[in-house]
Amino acid sequence: IFTHIFMSGRLRNRATLITGAGSGIGLESSVLFAQEGCHVVLSDVNIDGAKKGAEIIATRYPNVKAIAIKCDVSREQDIKDAVDTAVKEFGRLDIMFNNAGIMHPEDDNALNTEERIWDLTMQINLKGVWWGCKYAILAMRQNPTDDSLGLHTGGSIINTASFVALMGAATPQLAYTASKGAVLAMTRELAMVHAREGIRLNSLCPGPLKTPLLMDFLNTEEKKQRRMVHLPMGRFGEAIEQAKAALFLASDDSSYMTGTDFTVDGGLSSAY
Ligand code: NAD
Repeated sequence: IFTHIFMSGRLRNRATLITGAGSGIGLESSVLFAQEGCHVVLSDVNIDGAKKGAEIIATRYPNVKAIAIKCDVSREQDIKDAVDTAVKEFGRLDIMFNNAGIMHPEDDNALNTEERIWDLTMQINLKGVWWGCKYAILAMRQNPTDDSLGLHTGGSIINTASFVALMGAATPQLAYTASKGAVLAMTRELAMVHAREGIRLNSLCPGPLKTPLLMDFLNTEEKKQRRMVHLPMGRFGEAIEQAKAALFLASDDSSYMTGTDFTVDGGLSSAY
């Protein structure tokens, strides 16, 4: 876990629910948001990872509340319960980070990908984000409107997509790519529908990262090198670099941004 040195209180007294908070982007974001004064529900299907994050926050930032819960985003009821927990514990939900996702090792090209892999990927990466948006919007509508916290009146929803939603990956992962493209489209439409309620929705498009999700998928040195060739900076990204972008989207620093595909990819999408 990155050691955060500077604190500006950009999310002071706000409340967030983060999915996939037990590892990678979700874990780093949980700790970073807490450092900025935010109360955090860390949710993950891997409860041990979420608990680890909550313990780090409790030790480093005792003034904020951090709660770890088990939530499988492929189950609508789990997401509803997780949102209810945030509202019950913190009295509000300001930031929803729909970040959980999978890249299945058997995900392949159009000819080889089995329907069960397609369905599982869509269930987690796409339906899970839809449900996360749905219950977050319902909760955010109940947030106080005479908000003493500043500019903010509605809420900020961040949906993790991927650079592969913007360009074709040479290492085939059809279901994953399709699911992330759909996240971009869905986020844009939701952003338009809810803009006048003050609820902002943006997608985060990370480039290839050094997290278990990608490192397990690119499970040979040859596969890693094949991806590395396309990386202008010559390195995989770090989860904390995505967390910092998520913090920007979560905070009022991005108050005039909604419906964007916010790309943090080390220049990859500009490369030829
Ligand atoms: P990670 O493996 O470090 O973390 C993913 C977390 O999601 C894990 O803790 C895992 O337990 C959790 N998760 C998996 N299925 C879940 C489910 N059904 N319900 C709840 N939680 C579940 O990976 P990461 O790189 O931090 O991935 C986070 C997001 O970033 C994902 O949506 C991923 O698709 C996206 N992304 C990653 C990369 C990359 O290169 N790693 C690139 C672009 C986008």
